[in-house]
Order: sequence, then C-alpha cells, then structure tokens
Amino acid sequence: MPVLRFDNVSKHYAGGRQALSEVTFEVDAGEMLFVTGHSGAGKSTLLKLIHLSERASRGAVLFNERNLRNVRGRQVAMHRREVGVVFQDHRLLADRSVADNVGLPLLLRGTARGEIGKRVRVALEKVALADRGDALPTQLSAGEQQRVGIARALVTEPRLLVADEPTGNLDPTLSAEIMALLESLPERGTSVLVASHDLGLVKRMRKRVLVLGDGRLLDDIRPEDLAE
Ligand code: ADP
Ligand code: ADP
Repeated sequence: MPVLRFDNVSKHYAGGRQALSEVTFEVDAGEMLFVTGHSGAGKSTLLKLIHLSERASRGAVLFNERNLRNVRGRQVAMHRREVGVVFQDHRLLADRSVADNVGLPLLLRGTARGEIGKRVRVALEKVALADRGDALPTQLSAGEQQRVGIARALVTEPRLLVADEPTGNLDPTLSAEIMALLESLPERGTSVLVASHDLGLVKRMRKRVLVLGDGRLLDDIRPEDLAE
C-alpha cells in the first residue's frame, strides 16, 4: 500500500502563478526518494501539501489512502504527527536544550514527561547525538544542529519524513553525512521524501528522483532504469 499518493494535483496561489500542474505519483511504505528541479519549480509547494501548510487547488493528495482534503481542524495536528518535517534552517530554539527542542512536538501534544524523556533519548540515539541532550543548539556544529532537526522530526515516529533542502546550508562532507542518516530511516519504517536542487548530491544517492519543471512532473527516474 502506498503511504502517499498525488493524483492529478494542481496548486495555484492566490494572485500568484501555478506552482504545481497535474502532478501524479505514489510513494511506497519504506521508500526513500528525491524531488528536484530549478528554483521555483514547485518543490516546496509539493512538500507543503503533504504537511498541510498549503492545500491543493485541484486533484487529490492521499496519505495512507486518506484524502487530505477531508483532514480539517483538530485532525490536522493528528495528521502532522504522522509526517515529520525537516527544514533547511532547522528552526531550533536557541534558548532551549537539544533535548527540549527534540521533545517540543511531544510537549505540545500533552505527552507525559517521563514518556517524552524516553522518546527523546530514542530519537537522539537515531541521529547519534545521545550524549548531547543537555547542550544548547549553538554549542553544536551545523551538521549536528541539522541532526537535531531530524531527531525532532522523528520523535513522533512518523510514517513519512519530508525534508526541504536539508543540506542547503552544509558543506559537501556534512551533506553526505546527513544524506546517509536520512537513507538509514526507511530501514526503520519511515519513508523519506527529500527536496533538493543539488543534482550532484541527488545523483550520488542513486535513489528514485521526481523531476519538477515549472510545476510539472517532467520525469520519475528509478535507479534500476539508469544504465551504468
Ligand atoms: P521551489 O521550492 O521549487 O523553489 P516553490 O514551491 O517554492 O518552488 O514555488 C513554486 C512557485 O510558486 C514559484 O513561482 C513561487 O514564486 C510560487 N509561490 C510559492 N509560494 C507562494 C506563495 N505563498 N504565494 C504565491 N506564490 C508562491
Ligand atoms: P521555501 O519553502 O521555498 O524554502 P520559504 O517557505 O522560506 O521558501 O519562503 C518564505 C515564504 O514566502 C513561504 O511562505 C512561501 O510560500 C512564500 N513565497 C514564496 N514565493 C512566493 C511568492 N512568489 N509570492 C508570495 N509568497 C511567496
């Protein structure tokens, strides 16, 4: 069963141009794939429709076979528990410890303190920062800060993680490290969808790639289709 399905999805912003035009694809459970394309191609918009920062103008976005059009009000927060989001600038709170940053999504949901502590430890272990929970984000390197952002996205144990240019601010070595981490997640049951305009990086990963151009899905490349 696909975890995510876009069925002829279009998005136009009020007063703006068409950001997505009739986009159709499926993501299987446990799959990692990329979405790439030039600046303005519609990558961020595609991710925003998945975590309901934006709504489709036409067509259907289905998550676990559920049409997100019908996810309203309080259900939006429940939906977001199943979709972890990683941003380019990681958006960590500077005056809170690493552990508090990672636990924030659980705190906002009213999870019991003891349970938060346990889940934060598990999430920090996944990103190899188990010993940095008490540090402040500013005491960590850029790559470590992005790993904290990933831990925060994983703490609710989402079915799907979406990452918008997660290596946009990192040098090639740290980018490769973050990609290796993201690549390890499908083995643990979380599908991963990464938006990146860094074609070189995307190619090196040898994963499925959705190519957007001016809001259209130009190509859906599977690694097994690529000749050596
Ligand atoms: P990408 O992530 O590939 O750079 P975006 O999804 O951010 O592309 O943008 C796609 C198109 O939609 C661009 O033309 C952009 O200017 C436009 N756009 C994005 N967000 C908005 C918005 N909130 N209002 C109006 N236009 C927008
Ligand atoms: P991105 O998602 O592409 O990384 P951001 O989300 O940081 O960029 O963009 C900042 C805000 O500006 C977003 O809410 C985005 O939707 C909005 N935006 C982008 N392009 C336009 C546009 N052409 N007109 C109006 N708003 C836009």
